[in-house]
Amino acid sequence: MGDWHTHPISGPHPSDRDLRTYAGMLAAAELSFRVFVSIIVVPDLTEGWAQPQLFPWICERSAHPAGERASEAPRDAGALGGS
Ligand SMILES: [Zn+2]
Repeated sequence: MGDWHTHPISGPHPSDRDLRTYAGMLAAAELSFRVFVSIIVVPDLTEGWAQPQLFPWICERSAHPAGERASEAPRDAGALGGS
């Protein structure tokens, strides 16, 4: 139903490669995913990896025809990390 990985330098947003991966998971009929949850972990700006920040994203399969990129855009589920 999801995955997590780190972004050491590129920030908490899913990369184009990430989005393609999520879209592929959602499109795979054998997986039957209704949503795909991704957590991207980044180092804290001042504390580094001593205080990792977690950013969850929820990708949903769209009712729109395939090919509409907006349908694959994740929505920010809100940061779980914090001080
Ligand atoms: Zn990524």
